[in-house]
Amino acid sequence: MSTTLEKPDVLADELVAHVSSATVIRRDEPMAKHTTLRVGGLADFYVEPANENDLSAILKFCSERDLKFFILGRGSNLLVRDGGFRGVVICLQTPEFSRVEIDGTRIRAGAGAKQKTVAVEAKRAGLSGVEFLEGIPGSIGGALRMNAGAMGGETFNAVESVRVMDYAGNIRELTPAEMSVSYRSCATLKDHIALSAVFRCAPAPREEIESRMKAFSEKRWSSQPAAPSAGCMFKNPAAIPAGKLIDELGLKGTKIGGARVSLEHGNFLVNDGNATAKDVLNLIELLRQKAQAERGIELSPEVEIFGED
Ligand SMILES: Cc1cc2nc3c(=O)[nH]c(=O)nc-3n(C[C@H](O)[C@H](O)[C@H](O)COP(=O)(O)OP(=O)(O)OC[C@H]3O[C@@H](n4cnc5c(N)ncnc54)[C@H](O)[C@@H]3O)c2cc1C
Repeated sequence: MSTTLEKPDVLADELVAHVSSATVIRRDEPMAKHTTLRVGGLADFYVEPANENDLSAILKFCSERDLKFFILGRGSNLLVRDGGFRGVVICLQTPEFSRVEIDGTRIRAGAGAKQKTVAVEAKRAGLSGVEFLEGIPGSIGGALRMNAGAMGGETFNAVESVRVMDYAGNIRELTPAEMSVSYRSCATLKDHIALSAVFRCAPAPREEIESRMKAFSEKRWSSQPAAPSAGCMFKNPAAIPAGKLIDELGLKGTKIGGARVSLEHGNFLVNDGNATAKDVLNLIELLRQKAQAERGIELSPEVEIFGED
């Protein structure tokens, strides 16, 4: 059951008074609008801070009032429950956080920049090393938190440093060696916000970069569905890739409400248009039970699930 915040109108007015007028603040924002799976209930507050000062002020505001907050990228690795989120969703999508600047062989990209934009700008500048970001539908902040990777590359292999803000508003520039990084995760960003990152690339002929990106794109789109999804739903167990397991269990195409196991790729759960988060969660549970009962394998979600039922 979802609870409600006390005096949300008063809180909204107070929040407005704490930040510059360029910061976007909305009430009751449908999270389905902000996730690639297109499900999720209302967030009490949705804010896009205009700059680092405003971000810091929002964090202070949340801390003083004991409000929960969640840092949202482009919502491509998220499943938000139907009851939404009682707190403040903070999204670094304003121009200040979305800049991509090239300096020699280095690229500084804001946390709100699209991963694809970084790959395309690198190609334009004849810089190789971030081609794998081309087809991942998230932001640089999400790439850093998830140590996103594809086609043999992963984010932290190309990162030279990350500018972060802690929850008290202090800013530091960290090298990867100073951060806790593992397969598809950067634990340091569980309690720090990535503001931007510097990627170190190598000069290469533009045609070579272009043809690598084209090959990556063809490979991706021949093996993954175009329907709304959150990418791979489960981590790959040690014994077998999750998609192969689901395929071998004969579960491709299984449907609950508007949620369906993709026919193209067993590890993608897609929204047929009218799915609720509950449909997706029930489908996840069904797949987990079958994998456990029939093969003794535990499937755990790679996608982050948050919010209230
Ligand atoms: C069709 C499809 C294909 C995909 N293919 C791949 C793939 O090939 N490889 C791969 O690795 N992933 C893939 N994904 C998953 C997803 O795109 C990546 O994990 C991506 O990096 C998430 O970025 P995001 O901006 O959407 O993050 P979100 O989903 O919005 O958030 C993910 C996590 O990052 C945190 N976060 C976001 N921004 C920040 C920030 N600035 N500071 C701190 N924490 C932050 C959030 O709080 C959350 O915990 C795919 C997804 C889809 C839908």
